[in-house]
Amino acid sequence: MSNNDKLKNEGRIKEIIWKIRDYIQELENVKEGIIHFLHSRKKLDDATKDLWISDVKGLYYNTVSAWEMLNRALQGNLKFLDKSKNFLHNARSLKAKVVSEIKFYKEELVLNLITEIENSFEKCWSVFYNEFDILTPEIKSAKHIERVIRVSDSEYHLPCSVCGKISVECKIGYGRFDEHESLVYSGITHSCSLKKNLASELFKLLKKEDLSEVHSFMKDYLCHEGIDAYCPECDKIYCWEHYNARVEYDDGFYDCTYGECPNGHLRMIDD
Ligand SMILES: [Zn+2]
Ligand SMILES: [Zn+2]
Repeated sequence: MSNNDKLKNEGRIKEIIWKIRDYIQELENVKEGIIHFLHSRKKLDDATKDLWISDVKGLYYNTVSAWEMLNRALQGNLKFLDKSKNFLHNARSLKAKVVSEIKFYKEELVLNLITEIENSFEKCWSVFYNEFDILTPEIKSAKHIERVIRVSDSEYHLPCSVCGKISVECKIGYGRFDEHESLVYSGITHSCSLKKNLASELFKLLKKEDLSEVHSFMKDYLCHEGIDAYCPECDKIYCWEHYNARVEYDDGFYDCTYGECPNGHLRMIDD
């Protein structure tokens, strides 16, 4: 890069950082508005109110952290890119939670608050993603991504078909609360332990790289949604980001997670 280009690039980075700052300022105003609204309503007990207020704050502070991490990534330290993405996705989940919570009040004002928070966050999201796309190294076309990675006789990984990030692990081992060795599944939405004696059948399917059969196997033994990271229509695996996973809440309680693959196939991936 010539000195001139460098200066131009530094100028652009500064501009972006300030632009996001402005959007975050807007988000902060909406946050304050919602907190004020919650404080002013008497219908709710204090414990629930505190919880809901901490969700609004969490949404805001996760966005601020995403901004700080992006700032560092833009300075050239790309290991902060993933961190920034994680914070931003946390913020999006909390936004869904907050919206489900304030809907509790059937008031006209709530509709305005929801529109404001949706719009304000959407602006942040798109300006962040614009930068993420510029910063994300082009690994997709350069590197061949395997369908199934055999780590050992008793451990298999399924990488995301877009970025190669390991999205599913199946192995013999101990889950968090296991007393006995099990067949441990870890996907993009949850982990779960299955009976160890199922492993040989599963590993046979994984060896064949037959993801659709692995999916059916998981539907039978794991849960109705099968492999959470798998799009049956594409016959491909996607990570949380590339499945564009979205958490849904009902009155502040976890309801389910939807995934929409890059080809627009939408399905419930966790319930
Ligand atoms: Zn991915
Ligand atoms: Zn698909």
